[in-house]
Amino acid sequence: MNWAFVGASTIASQYVLEAVRAQDGNDVTWVVSGSAERGRGWADAHGIANATTDLAQALADDRVSAVYISSTNEKHHPQALAAISAGKHVLCEKPLGMSVAEAQDMMSAAQTAGLVFGTNHHLRCSGAHRAMRDVIADGRIGRVLSLRIFHAVHLPPHLQGWRINDASAGGGVIPDITVHDADVARFLLGEDPVDVVAQMGVSGMGDGVEDSAMSVWSMPSGAMVMSHESFTHPYAGSGVEVHGDKGSIFARGVMTQEPVGEIELVTDVGREALSFSDHSLYEQGVADFVAAIAGQGRPAADGLDGVKSLAVALAVREAAQTGRRVTVDYGDVT
Ligand code: NDP
Repeated sequence: MNWAFVGASTIASQYVLEAVRAQDGNDVTWVVSGSAERGRGWADAHGIANATTDLAQALADDRVSAVYISSTNEKHHPQALAAISAGKHVLCEKPLGMSVAEAQDMMSAAQTAGLVFGTNHHLRCSGAHRAMRDVIADGRIGRVLSLRIFHAVHLPPHLQGWRINDASAGGGVIPDITVHDADVARFLLGEDPVDVVAQMGVSGMGDGVEDSAMSVWSMPSGAMVMSHESFTHPYAGSGVEVHGDKGSIFARGVMTQEPVGEIELVTDVGREALSFSDHSLYEQGVADFVAAIAGQGRPAADGLDGVKSLAVALAVREAAQTGRRVTVDYGDVT
């Protein structure tokens, strides 16, 4: 299957291009960039035949069946709608859009057109996250009481651009990382946050957008979720803890792009290190998307998952801005 990549981005070059090429018979035929020079350079550096600044030109290529969008966040909505109009399946980066309405629009357009739409939430593709979810689903920690997500990292210098200083491009740690954490909570617990309280701030990197946030979410089951995101913490490490009335899961170093980390299950039987698959998160996500196009299963995270993770993240930002508890507005989706 031929792909067009929309966005000459870091994530595409570091992970997703390789993940596409790891699938039998898949390759990238086009890259679409806002800059002719950067697009050509990116294509040459990665062995891609065609580069253009004209999205319509790439979409007019009948050989292209799938489009991967990894431009800055404000471009996702118009680019996805154009790709869907041209009859292409879409794998889109998170956050899907700048608003829940945009994300819903993208999901609905793909549904109406009968096309596969995926959201690139890589963490639910990780062996560690899937192992944690299985332990919870098997009842080994009993009734879940709380989930704590530690996702305060240090944004590397090469990514300290629009993310930390451009609200109009979708910058800020909340659309960048809280959106992932919302997906993790939904994936692990199998339920959607109802309402949130939050604070956010600037702690050394943000210029006009927040670089740190902490929030607490209520789940329908009564479980509470605590979530911490930042761009400014060089040594915090990442982690997930899930506490139930019969056991606790302690996972360290698992909120990452690599298949790494450690998980310990603690119950009245004692402490047990959990093993998990070390497959590539991005290859798994692309494999699930490609299989869904072939009629087998669904994308690891579909459009609805992308709508919901964005809804939670935007509720966190509103709660932090207003100082009030905010009910998550999932729009018209079910
Ligand atoms: P980048 O900043 O690397 O790329 C985003 C856009 O910025 C590119 O599309 C490109 O525009 C432009 N750009 C890139 N490099 C340069 C440069 N040197 N000079 C000028 N402009 C440049 O972003 P990321 O790859 O970090 O993120 C892209 C998207 O992917 C975002 O939506 C982000 O949220 C998401 N993401 C998802 C991850 C995941 O694990 N799911 C991880 C990281 C990011 P153009 O295309 O017009 O050339």
